[in-house]
Amino acid sequence: MAAYFDYNATTPVHAAAREAWLKASDEHWQNPSSLYREAGLTAQALEAARERLADLLGVEPERVVFTSGATESNNTLFSGLAKCLAPDACVAISAIEHPCVREAARVWLGRHRVVEIPVNEDGVVEVEVLQDILKRHQPALVSIMAANNESGVLQPWQELLKVCRQTGVRFHTDAAQWIGKLKSTAFGACDYITGSAHKFGGSKGVGFLVVADADEAFPLFHGGPQEQSRRAGTENYPGIEAMVTALESVTPIIAEVSAKQTLLRDAFIMQMQTQFVGLRVISEGAPRLWNTVLMVMPRHDNLKWLTRLSRLGFAISTGSACSSGKEGSSAVVQALGASWEELRRVVRVSGGWETTVAEWQALAAAFAEAGQSLDSGGRPGI
Ligand code: PLP
Repeated sequence: MAAYFDYNATTPVHAAAREAWLKASDEHWQNPSSLYREAGLTAQALEAARERLADLLGVEPERVVFTSGATESNNTLFSGLAKCLAPDACVAISAIEHPCVREAARVWLGRHRVVEIPVNEDGVVEVEVLQDILKRHQPALVSIMAANNESGVLQPWQELLKVCRQTGVRFHTDAAQWIGKLKSTAFGACDYITGSAHKFGGSKGVGFLVVADADEAFPLFHGGPQEQSRRAGTENYPGIEAMVTALESVTPIIAEVSAKQTLLRDAFIMQMQTQFVGLRVISEGAPRLWNTVLMVMPRHDNLKWLTRLSRLGFAISTGSACSSGKEGSSAVVQALGASWEELRRVVRVSGGWETTVAEWQALAAAFAEAGQSLDSGGRPGI
């Protein structure tokens, strides 16, 4: 592959995380719930990993529940709320949540108990809008993602959290796209935090939910007493170790990477806007993740762009991995005011921590080549 530009869908496993996984699998493969000495050592290593993750997030270790990823974490939260809340209580979620928040909330609580918080034309939830929702609907919980997986838009979650604090409403953030890309130690102030290892160099099928109180138990899975009876099933210690190692590896370089990659991404956008008159970058005016560009191409369907670029060796996306390839397109782009016609032309490019200037430039050149081929009606085998 010439270059990978789909980091928001998933990331390659970080070399340090791979090493950590192998070591943990060799040295601590025993079941942490078993009672012999070696299993005890695995349990100790698991708890040490919990403490290290808690440190990186600024939370108490007892609040961390390991899961299989962000989808499970979000379903755990909303299924738990469905059990705990009064039958007429509602929750408020932003209009641009990932489907595993939106659908989990709707399925577990019922559509009528899920209030949608609109975003402005940049895809951002405004403080006044949230205040109004709190006043009108008095939700038991507000859920607003930290960074959007499609547009990369960053929410002012610290301000929104403050608004919730003033009214005693609990606050959840799905931080799957933020963690590992931006500083994360302030998340501890949130009541609930969702994270996913494969978005920052860990392996797939590992993640966590940070809960408000250590003794809060609303398991999605029922069975054994693992994770303090908050998540049944043998803990995936090697995967957890790899996740924590990946986050420890990227955290110290976040500021440097963010500054450098923002420049490379913006140079790519300039190049694209020069090559394609009429190209629109969604949420261009809002603070966004340093790696993400969601753009409406001036012509041709997104799947055609994706196919041409794939043949040239570049991996991009038509939107979130969960909606790509489906009829219609993602809720987030609709929430950002794109027309149905434009939705068919939306492509997402998301780079990584080590994406080079040459790769960004090669991607822009590949778009130019693909565009020429599409304009001339050439067959996809360019
Ligand atoms: N939340 C957000 C914001 C995401 O971007 C994703 C993955 O695309 C998920 C949740 C789902 O994560 P997982 O694959 O760990 O279930």
